[in-house]
Amino acid sequence: MLVSRLHLPTLREAPKDAEVVSHQYLVRGGYIRRVSAGIYSFLPLGVRVLEKVKTIIREEMNRAGAQEVFMPAMIPADLWQESGRWAKYGPELLRVKDRKQAEYCVGPTHEEVVVDLVRKDVRSYKELPVNLYQIQTKFRDEMRPRAGLMRGREFIMKDAYSFDSTVENAHISYRGMYEAYTRIFTRMGLDFRAVEADTGNIGGSMSHEFQVLADTGEDSIVSCDTCSFAANVEKAPLAAGKAYAFGPAAAAEILDTPGTKSIESLCKLLGCQPADTIKAILYMADGEPAVVFVRGDREANEVKVKQALGAQELYLADAEWFAKTTGLPPGYLGPVGLQGRVRAIGDGELPAMPHAVCGANEKQKHIKGVIPARDLQDLPIADLRMAIAGDPCPRCAGQLRAFRGIEVGHVFYLGQKYSKAMQATFLDENSQEMPFEMGCYGIGVSRILSAAIEQNHDARGIAWPVSLAPYEVTVIDLQQGQGVARSLHDELQTQGIDVLLDDRDERPGVKFNDADLMGFPVQVIVGKKAAEGIVEVKIRRTGQRLERPIAGLVSELAGLVRAGRQGKPIEVQ
Ligand code: ATP
Ligand code: MG
Repeated sequence: MLVSRLHLPTLREAPKDAEVVSHQYLVRGGYIRRVSAGIYSFLPLGVRVLEKVKTIIREEMNRAGAQEVFMPAMIPADLWQESGRWAKYGPELLRVKDRKQAEYCVGPTHEEVVVDLVRKDVRSYKELPVNLYQIQTKFRDEMRPRAGLMRGREFIMKDAYSFDSTVENAHISYRGMYEAYTRIFTRMGLDFRAVEADTGNIGGSMSHEFQVLADTGEDSIVSCDTCSFAANVEKAPLAAGKAYAFGPAAAAEILDTPGTKSIESLCKLLGCQPADTIKAILYMADGEPAVVFVRGDREANEVKVKQALGAQELYLADAEWFAKTTGLPPGYLGPVGLQGRVRAIGDGELPAMPHAVCGANEKQKHIKGVIPARDLQDLPIADLRMAIAGDPCPRCAGQLRAFRGIEVGHVFYLGQKYSKAMQATFLDENSQEMPFEMGCYGIGVSRILSAAIEQNHDARGIAWPVSLAPYEVTVIDLQQGQGVARSLHDELQTQGIDVLLDDRDERPGVKFNDADLMGFPVQVIVGKKAAEGIVEVKIRRTGQRLERPIAGLVSELAGLVRAGRQGKPIEVQ
């Protein structure tokens, strides 16, 4: 393909709204253009990368026995009413009416549609398992669309849904998808981890996220330095601390601590550390006040708090509302003597604290010398805090390490959540009607472009893994019209390599900059020495530059590219 014939508009400057590097390079490199908040057009280069992503996904989904279907974007409201999600799914769901005032939503995910498909056509356990997937445009009216394709409102997803006759079989399907995802992201050349995840709104009881490791990722993940445990911090369970074995000690005493609503100001006044204090976090759980206590240097994990309180909806409480509803003074709340005044729970680490300072439930006062194992025996204890680096592994004696990640895929075991709600049943071996056992499996197709760039770039631009690159090799012609570059291009193309010839009448610097920005893995620079049969080969990712005889070059590059397509980074000697 010739650059002169393509629509490849690169830009010197990134748009002002582009804060993360992948967003900047996708726009500057001529991959995408913004249409509206969280809504983008894909330019030719962007489409080529998307197609590579889709092809890898299709090949591995098909290999795993899933079959491709294509479901509509517009979903009638009654299907969503059947599952109960029409009422529950908040403002992220785009609801629309047709000319007859019939209600629809633009699908953010397709459990309802696929359940309706399968319940109409599958009658017997003999027809199971069925695993259907599609690659399709979703719409979610995200509160904060950001970072280009990373969190769009309109985006492309691969979503798959498995239907099985028993829990055991559903687990086999789940495992199959987990393994397919591992192959998919390996082939994409991405550094990723499969981590245990919260099951959130969608329900079910087993879930893994596939996270691409990148410092700019929205998700915090922890993994053990000894065993294979890895989890999203939202989920990572932490064992309760060993209760402090207290001996005879003075009783706790109340202190005047004026102006110490924050842990910081309290520590300053008393000359203690945050880890010596107990922090109160105030919530509104299903409309009722609740308070959570964690060690002063810890953060509460809302997913865990929600679960421990058994709440459907959890918000941080407005301090004024909390004070009015409970008669308690925000900023001075503590677990001692709180029984019966407000619902309270404490984190599992509290009983291990040898001593603590906490609020006295009176304005401008704290209690010092609290021994939680002695003084907080009435406080219900649960695992409530956010895991951080250095925490003990919940599975072995190892320690947790922390990473940032970008979620590119998610596998869920759903059980009978949707099949029961929507009365989707089959006849089992005993001719009994049974709801299907389901799983659902998503991949953020368009988000992968952003994630891959976050992980593979430098100050000059993108450095695509070979398997995702829009073109695997670019031949940069600095000898306009002498024919060497053109014949190299043609031979590479004959070898089945995606090759782009920069045949423009531009300065070398412009061509080099564009090639680096757009991120093609291999550059072949045809310059003065071409007459002697020598060209320069540059490996984008490593920056290596090597002189190579033209003879034999095509087959060497073909070999490198083929290895790269399996997810191996290109290296040459
Ligand atoms: P997130 O926590 O990032 O909002 P999610 O849990 O809502 O993700 P799923 O419903 O599991 O996501 O969707 C499957 C996949 O679709 C995700 O793993 C992610 O890669 C991708 N995805 C989800 N929301 C978006 C979005 N707004 N823009 C782009 N990709 C998305
Ligand atoms: Mg989401």
